[in-house]
Amino acid sequence: MTNSNIMRMSQLYAPTLKEDPTDAEIASHKLLLRAGFIRKTASGVYTFLPLGKRVLSKVEDIVREEMDAIGAQEIMMPALQPAELWHESGRWNDYGPELMRLKDRHDHEFCLGPTHEELLTALVRNELRSYKQLPLSLYQIQVKFRDEIRPRFGLLRSREFIMKDAYSFHADQESLQKTYDEMSEAYGRICDRMGLDYRPVEADPGQIGGSVTCEFMALAEAGEAELVHCSCGYAANTEAGDCLARPTVYDVPAMEKVATPDVHTIAELAAFLDIPESSTVKALSGKNDEGKLVVMFVPGDHELNEIKAARAAGGFTLLTDEDMESFGLHKGSMGPVGLPEDAYVIAARSLQAVPKWVVGANEDGYHYVGAQLGVDFKVDEWADLCIVRPGDSCPTCGLPLEGARGIEVSQVFQLGDKYSRSMGATFMTEDGTEQPFLMGCYGVGVSRTMAAIVEQHNDEHGISWPLAVAPAHVCVIPLTVGDDEVQPAAEKLASELSRLGLEVVIDDRKERAGVKFADADLIGWPLQIIVGKRGLAEQKVEIKRRSTGARRDIPLTALTDALAFAQRNSKVWGSEVSLFGSLFE
Ligand code: ATP
Ligand code: MG
Repeated sequence: MTNSNIMRMSQLYAPTLKEDPTDAEIASHKLLLRAGFIRKTASGVYTFLPLGKRVLSKVEDIVREEMDAIGAQEIMMPALQPAELWHESGRWNDYGPELMRLKDRHDHEFCLGPTHEELLTALVRNELRSYKQLPLSLYQIQVKFRDEIRPRFGLLRSREFIMKDAYSFHADQESLQKTYDEMSEAYGRICDRMGLDYRPVEADPGQIGGSVTCEFMALAEAGEAELVHCSCGYAANTEAGDCLARPTVYDVPAMEKVATPDVHTIAELAAFLDIPESSTVKALSGKNDEGKLVVMFVPGDHELNEIKAARAAGGFTLLTDEDMESFGLHKGSMGPVGLPEDAYVIAARSLQAVPKWVVGANEDGYHYVGAQLGVDFKVDEWADLCIVRPGDSCPTCGLPLEGARGIEVSQVFQLGDKYSRSMGATFMTEDGTEQPFLMGCYGVGVSRTMAAIVEQHNDEHGISWPLAVAPAHVCVIPLTVGDDEVQPAAEKLASELSRLGLEVVIDDRKERAGVKFADADLIGWPLQIIVGKRGLAEQKVEIKRRSTGARRDIPLTALTDALAFAQRNSKVWGSEVSLFGSLFE
């Protein structure tokens, strides 16, 4: 009797590749292509083959369960969005070239949604009218389009991808905070269940807007995000984190002008004076949105964070060389002593603790050492200005921060009334006044997460899927096919395992054992069961756990008994403990 729930390698459409595809740079991209999970359709546009679709569905199911568990309701919105809604929010112009725009035959403008704040706000604004209906959380698992400038790394940064996006509507901040916290906890559980090593990190709101936000980063060398983290639990994206640099002081009795011929950069200055870069101070000049000259100072070993700079100064555009000349500034030797009268000076907060600075002298070929804060120059404002670096002090506990790279798999935002106000989405409060909703939005990159899992779970042989997201739990491998006893025994075992609720694949191809083993390791089934003539003579099979490489011979009855026992006691094959608990001790 054949069991139709069992996947058959002889029929499965999973073309594998012997060699790494040449345009794939990172493990997840190479392996998902090689093992036959995905195929490229166009730059940043992918097809999910049967194995890829199975994993994608598992990731979706986990996300769906966690959303349903906190009371969010699933909907499905169109990808095609009318431009008018984006004009209302102001994002038709603000979003830029990443927005995929198109026109219909009547010349009406549309976009393919990169995200759905506008659509959701428009959906509820006429029908969600009373505080009594709040809070409300809606979500969907749906395709998104972003015309990324550099689509790359396969599913990690694509132009068409799958996202779970949720949106919540509230009468007050307390309610928004509560849902935001519940969503954040659900996002943590989603990562845990999928076997991701992750950190929730302080983030910058970027394009979406709002102010309170947190990103969930899967730690991986291939990740595009840089983060810092601390043993106390603090973690931040370097774009966003509070920078507490540790400048070092170069102490001299009084301010002294030093000739520094041919010194133009911080590295050259530090080398010339034979001091660390952290003992120097870097200057950057720019104009704010009102055209006012603003000069910023940061520790020499740190870079200016342009987002923070713009926030501190009310816009900050770096001066061109000509602009600098017209203001009487000297590139390569700017400093706080003797700046133009009308320059507004903002300095990094960590420099506040440095009484004497090594800085440009506003004169070509000269610098000052020991320029004294409050005596030789003044600072108008102190601000958080730098990009955080590993080694900076943790803002929570003061210990040096560690650096890491990460893949942003998800993000939660408190939007406040940004969209509801601009799009006129209001409700009636308890005392009868109209007020815009407070909103939150929460995104999980479903397809990106699939790639992130592979980045963390692979070795030189291929992918090693965590049980909860594997395309199937067990691969039964008969060493010979068509043999009198081996294949029937393997088929019988596969049926028994399937009846226990395991997802089973049988490698019934007439291939050499070596080919089957290599493919099983490449595809990454969590458990392999090898059925051969010699073992069967003793009623035994060999089992192998992909993630650890552990193998053992086990009597057939012991195998099925152990699994039946595990099933009776947990019924959840998604957990590693239930499947492997008793098998490999
Ligand atoms: P990134 O900074 O990586 O461009 P984002 O912050 O712009 O991402 P969000 O707007 O927060 O992305 O979207 C929610 C989630 O969608 C992200 O956390 C990420 O997992 C996923 N995502 C965003 N852009 C892409 C993309 N180009 N390809 C695949 N997934 C993406
Ligand atoms: Mg994001």
